[in-house]
Amino acid sequence: MSVSLRAEAVRKHYGEGVQRIDALHPVSLSLRPGELVMITGPSGSGKSTLLAILSGLLSPDAGSVEALGKALAPMSSDQRDRFRLAHSGFVFQGFHLLPALTASEQVEIVLRRLGASAREARARAAHALAAVGLERRMSNRPGEMSGGEKQRVAIARALAKRPALIFADEPTSALDSENGRQVAALLRTEAHASGATVVCVTHDSRLADQADQVLRMEDGRMLA
Ligand code: ADP
Repeated sequence: MSVSLRAEAVRKHYGEGVQRIDALHPVSLSLRPGELVMITGPSGSGKSTLLAILSGLLSPDAGSVEALGKALAPMSSDQRDRFRLAHSGFVFQGFHLLPALTASEQVEIVLRRLGASAREARARAAHALAAVGLERRMSNRPGEMSGGEKQRVAIARALAKRPALIFADEPTSALDSENGRQVAALLRTEAHASGATVVCVTHDSRLADQADQVLRMEDGRMLA
């Protein structure tokens, strides 16, 4: 498969009348397996809207998205949820970790939802956390970890199920530059090693040099 994620002329607006905002004018793109793609642009340019549409969390007003060769629009919302659980990993700016769970448990619950046994989930969580350098933080809860460590837990959680598609929204913006670079390098390594397509929204231009492809947005349009 030479294209893992394709968007054809997707549009999205919010509000009506004088309140209307055209968040995305027709935007098209094709992404390949094994690619780290950064979508950059100023705040309000439509990056998060595009990411939400590419990942199937939001439906476009017009246009189509095909992920791993499957059109998202004809799927029911249940089917889309299942598709995401099976094939997509997410990393967010705010980490979205559960405060009561240890690093290992954060990763294990995703694997258990996918049908792994408790023993298998523990082993795979240990492996995923070691891959992001957190082998000694397995039993720590979010309150006992730094921002960089928490984001690496979130990345381990996204990667443990070995998704073909990884969506990251401002994954480095809560991090200092050293941790930011580490996280970007991790995402790049994962794309290249596992063949996943990693789509990363950021206004952090320092991360662009890690990317295989940089897409720039302005006012809801993709710049050439
Ligand atoms: P970015 O991620 O580049 O900051 P967004 O996709 O979040 O851009 O937003 C694009 C435009 O759409 C902005 O003008 C924003 O204010 C508007 N917008 C985003 N989400 C909503 C929403 N749920 N309701 C109304 N307007 C929204």
